[in-house]
Amino acid sequence: MGSGFFMDSGERGWNERVRHLRKGRSVMSKTLDVLLHEAEQRQEELIDLLKKLISFQTPAPPARNTKEAQTFIAEFLRKLDFSVDMWEVYPNDPNVVGKRKGASPENYQSLIINGHIDVAEVHEDEEWEADPFQPAVRNGHVIGRGAADMKGGLAGALFALQLLHEAGVLLPGDVLFQSVIGEEVGEAGTLECCRKGYTADFAVVVDTSDLHIQGQGGVITGWITLKSSQTYHDATRRKMIHAGGKLFGASAIEKMMKIIEGLQELERHWAVTKSYPGFLPGTNTINPAVIEGGRHAAFIADECRLWITVHYYPDETYEQVAKEVEEHIQSIAKGDIWMRHNPPTFEWGGASMIEDKGEIFPSFEVDAGHEAVKTLMQSHAAVLNKPPVVDVSPTVTDGGWLADAGIPTVIYGPGDLENAHSVNEKLAIKQLVDYTKVILAFIHQWCHQPKHESL
Ligand SMILES: [Zn+2]
Repeated sequence: MGSGFFMDSGERGWNERVRHLRKGRSVMSKTLDVLLHEAEQRQEELIDLLKKLISFQTPAPPARNTKEAQTFIAEFLRKLDFSVDMWEVYPNDPNVVGKRKGASPENYQSLIINGHIDVAEVHEDEEWEADPFQPAVRNGHVIGRGAADMKGGLAGALFALQLLHEAGVLLPGDVLFQSVIGEEVGEAGTLECCRKGYTADFAVVVDTSDLHIQGQGGVITGWITLKSSQTYHDATRRKMIHAGGKLFGASAIEKMMKIIEGLQELERHWAVTKSYPGFLPGTNTINPAVIEGGRHAAFIADECRLWITVHYYPDETYEQVAKEVEEHIQSIAKGDIWMRHNPPTFEWGGASMIEDKGEIFPSFEVDAGHEAVKTLMQSHAAVLNKPPVVDVSPTVTDGGWLADAGIPTVIYGPGDLENAHSVNEKLAIKQLVDYTKVILAFIHQWCHQPKHESL
């Protein structure tokens, strides 16, 4: 089993649940067994769908290039009787939300399937075996930009929905499919869906997780600015720093050194005092990523800005860690004579690394006791004959925004992080087919589950 996650239920409890699902399945639906078989039989169609998605060139940056791919997905969903909402988040970067209304949506559980259509950028000097946007199949893998992150997840979920539709399965609960833009550059594609009011009883982000069921830590970026109320010429420096000079001023660049030291101190304190299962100690880093300051060699630097990236654990919020950083830095500022009069200011987050130079990926925890998580675990175990690993993603996904909107959420997708963003990015076809079967079983089971015990 490997994962200590199942310790509370124990091996016997686990097997019991899987047996129960299998028995339940054969009683509940012969269709599902047939469909799982079909997913294997028709894997060439699934591979073609993945290749089609990869062939749309959607790298971000530069972004603003997803319209064609999103139109394809919108059309795909319409053919499956989804009603489609497509709107531009940025020019040429529309979001797509498709909704397949259930037969009895008030009484049965609903589901959001969420994935991003943009892919990591391809640098000119990357040495790919072939064109990253002309996908190839080699040694049981599909190779191309986005195969692992995360057009494989999108293809698997779309194909599962297609199989359900073609078999004439009308699910009792609603299914929403969200294909969003901008994830790779911290853009608010998923946040926009949440702001538009799209919600469900549960959400699966089909991003790269190597078929693990995952929560995630969070990331927030911020700018710390020091600004002098006056600008001084370089020649005044002697008066500013030597006895008898009588000029009360300072270089914002030199004062920023104290702030950077303070951030290192807080980072060490967090590493010592905070932890979360599944993360190496000290994963909660504060990176001074970019610094800009000063105006010209002929002046004392009257402004300095530091761009930081803060990583935090799933049981913390971005508001909370931002507050901790601010409080610590302000107390350092109070201990400095100049900064006491020229305190640092903070700007946190942003809705795009391209437009705002800022991003937030909220964290979230997996609630292993939630009915949907149990159903997903059971679907995985029943289809693949082994229990799933439930852990935390070492990276971040859009799942944070869904969880932030109050929707219980997990990440569950094919592909591994070694391949995400890599040269010759690839996805094993076996895993893609396995994934499609599990997500198909899960969609089927979850949307057949009554909202209330009494039903
Ligand atoms: Zn991704």
